[in-house]
Amino acid sequence: IRRNAGEAEFHQAVQGVLESLGLVVAKHPHYLDQALIERICEPERQIIFRIPWVDDAGHVQINRGFRVQFNSALGPYKGGMRFHPSVNVGIIKFLGFAQTFKNALTGLPIGGGKGGSDFDPKGRSEGEIMRFCQSLMTELHRHLGEYTDVPAGDVGVGGREIGYMFGQFKRLTNRYEAGVFTGKALAYGGSRARTEATGYGNTYFVRAMLETRGSSFDGRKVVVSGSGNVAIYTIEKVQSFGGKVIACSDSSGYVVDESGIDLALIKEIKDVRRGRIGEYAKARGAGAHFVPAGKGSVWDVPCDVAMPSATQNELSGKDAATLVKNGVIAVGEGANMPSTPEAIRLFQEARVLFGPGKAANAGGVATSALEMQQNASRDSWTFEQTEERLATIMRNIHDTCAATADEYGAPGNYVLGANIAGFVRVAEAMQMLGVI
Ligand code: NDP
Repeated sequence: IRRNAGEAEFHQAVQGVLESLGLVVAKHPHYLDQALIERICEPERQIIFRIPWVDDAGHVQINRGFRVQFNSALGPYKGGMRFHPSVNVGIIKFLGFAQTFKNALTGLPIGGGKGGSDFDPKGRSEGEIMRFCQSLMTELHRHLGEYTDVPAGDVGVGGREIGYMFGQFKRLTNRYEAGVFTGKALAYGGSRARTEATGYGNTYFVRAMLETRGSSFDGRKVVVSGSGNVAIYTIEKVQSFGGKVIACSDSSGYVVDESGIDLALIKEIKDVRRGRIGEYAKARGAGAHFVPAGKGSVWDVPCDVAMPSATQNELSGKDAATLVKNGVIAVGEGANMPSTPEAIRLFQEARVLFGPGKAANAGGVATSALEMQQNASRDSWTFEQTEERLATIMRNIHDTCAATADEYGAPGNYVLGANIAGFVRVAEAMQMLGVI
């Protein structure tokens, strides 16, 4: 704790995993050898750098950039870049730590990393976004490579930002190294279904959990928080499985539409206008209403399935108690660590099916690894082919977590299953690689 002072989210993420490991080391004490657990909690490398850029008014702005290369036992570092004013080293470390186990769970050869900046893209012009991305990459490019470290998108980083970063990487290195970034547009080496993958994958995961109780999405009321990349494609897939999404949100508040969220309208507001969620209620008139942030929580809306898809610690113990009281049967974490430890405890006590982000949102990075495969073989798969691979991977992750939970005497505990199964894969490789 002294070495990582003030990094609250990192402590929370490490504690969550360590709490699951007691059972593993009791059964397999060799995991305590050679300070393995201490090494797994320490990033291999942390890069922190200055990002100077010039805004439209001619003023020099300074942001801080981060790339935490957490663990490369299983493959090159892999994990997204986040642009949000809340970004600090503790947040990037928690994300990189969780990413290491998530990537291991996919069964694909990728290590764990994460990066980003405290840059706030909101209200910035196209030119400002481009100059910022170029300045960031002027420093970061020397640390990346398809065999070294392969970033992708995350909060505040979508196709536009990845294009600018990849463009600058290409210019600085004079290499068309398509595999150095994932989440690229199709036009220059992206993969079909990558944009949809995290939201789709979470929906496949929740469907698999529901099946264990002989249930499905059909006719279920679903609440999805956020209205960014993960939220939008969660809504799309839930609707295709017969569920009815009745609420979604952004940081300004949430909207409720009991007749079912009109996804085309959300896409228009978010992807085209880059607007705020309140505009949805205005456009829908009497059918929908908007509740501003601070006047309530999206989790107050009664539902059968909750799919938090915005940010860390967005679902508190109080929210969990409300959801349980309202009869929620399943929770699938599209975001990273959206539920607080207290919320997870309440869900588990109430026997709510709970899919932790490490497992449930792994579809994004899994499809990124499929993008790397396509780039390496100079190939491009169809949407159907790629989605089929994604669906199989999500099924395998679900089954691995469930089987591991059974093996350790905690049936249905996907948190334990995900932590142990991810840990064992990384730990086995690290032991074979020696003390490095
Ligand atoms: P986006 O930037 O596309 O969307 C984020 C959404 O969450 C926006 O609606 C945003 O609202 C809202 N949000 C962000 N921060 C806050 C906050 N502090 N309070 C309330 N709402 C907030 O990001 P993504 O959809 O890509 O990511 C969402 C989550 O999913 C993150 O936790 C991310 O790490 C995780 N994830 C993403 C993957 C991916 O493939 N994109 C893969 C795996 C996990 P506003 O616009 O108002 O800020």
